[in-house]
Amino acid sequence: MAVTLNENIQKIETSLIRRFNDMAVKQNAELFLTLGEPAFDTPASVKEACVKALYENKTHYGPNTGIKELREAVAEFERKKNHLDYTADEVMITNGSTEALTATLFTLLNPGDEVIIPTPAFLLYEMIITYTGAKAVFMDMSENDFQISKEMLSKHLTDKTKAIILTSPNNPSGTIFNEETLKTVHDAVKDRDIFVICDECYNQLVYTKEQPKSFCHFKDLRDKIIVCQSFSKPYAMTGWRLGYMMAPEYIIKHAMKAHQFMTVSAGTFIQYAGIEALDFDPSEFREVYRRRRDYVYDRLVKMGFDVVKPDGTFYIFPSIKKFGLSSYEFCERLLKEQSVVIIPGIAFGSEGNVRISFCVDDKVIEKALDRLEVFVKGLKK
Ligand code: PLP
Repeated sequence: MAVTLNENIQKIETSLIRRFNDMAVKQNAELFLTLGEPAFDTPASVKEACVKALYENKTHYGPNTGIKELREAVAEFERKKNHLDYTADEVMITNGSTEALTATLFTLLNPGDEVIIPTPAFLLYEMIITYTGAKAVFMDMSENDFQISKEMLSKHLTDKTKAIILTSPNNPSGTIFNEETLKTVHDAVKDRDIFVICDECYNQLVYTKEQPKSFCHFKDLRDKIIVCQSFSKPYAMTGWRLGYMMAPEYIIKHAMKAHQFMTVSAGTFIQYAGIEALDFDPSEFREVYRRRRDYVYDRLVKMGFDVVKPDGTFYIFPSIKKFGLSSYEFCERLLKEQSVVIIPGIAFGSEGNVRISFCVDDKVIEKALDRLEVFVKGLKK
């Protein structure tokens, strides 16, 4: 039978992060610094709230945009924690921020539209954009300490630009956009019909003295800003699949349709657990990540890597340009020769780097770095 599938779905590839990781699993590799998967368990208070909700039979269909109690809790949390002013009706609860991003892009994009993705970036964005028939336009920040300059932006903006995605803190570099970058983007989009999608799912895992300013604070652009958030990283809840988007109601109203027909709603009892999660203080996790960040950074510098110290997330993204290998070759050889698994930068649109995830156990990190050291000593510099 000749089958004709959707043209765009056939253009999309599965995640290289997952593929590389799975290949290493098949090869029985020993040390994995690959996924953005906290080794911590979900806090007990969150699990208890979930069990309680189950026994209270919160097991039925919920409202499409999410239960009111959680939407109100999110609005309150965002007001107190991030000084963002959204009402419960401007919040939609989703299945992870993955679905918040998908619903956002489905709502905004028409075929032919362009979306600027500053790279390195989490390439889920590219896949969804391609699916809609729009075009992902990559803007390389790697030569500018992972910040955006005016020149860079003016080279990539066209009259087809519909949106730009700002991921801060960034996966994979761990960089937080500085005020200059925020102003640069603000000035470039303020008089244009361009949406700004703020993926801030690591904004509780930051190591700066003060909570950094976010693009979401530009009140004059409120109508064009969509915030995508996640419970996965700050509360070690990756498997629960819970996130949310915040946007003006005129956007939520349409995004809700994408969400309704794809998933109906996030799990009802899971949303009750989400209310409890917002009360959990992740600083204990954050301090462990901070210590690991310092350790990994120091070790990489000693090994001779050029590397930017991450201000957030649990990733670090050293340059491997001096070794003369592609990022895939570097990771493939490290896997073969030392049984250590890290992710090629090309999986984030950045060929000259590799991503090391330090959300795993201390001992695994230490052992993996010992082996990385042996590996790079063996490479010709
Ligand atoms: N956005 C970024 C930048 C990420 O790194 C991830 C996951 O790694 C996600 C979104 C998706 O997170 P989730 O769907 O688990 O909320």
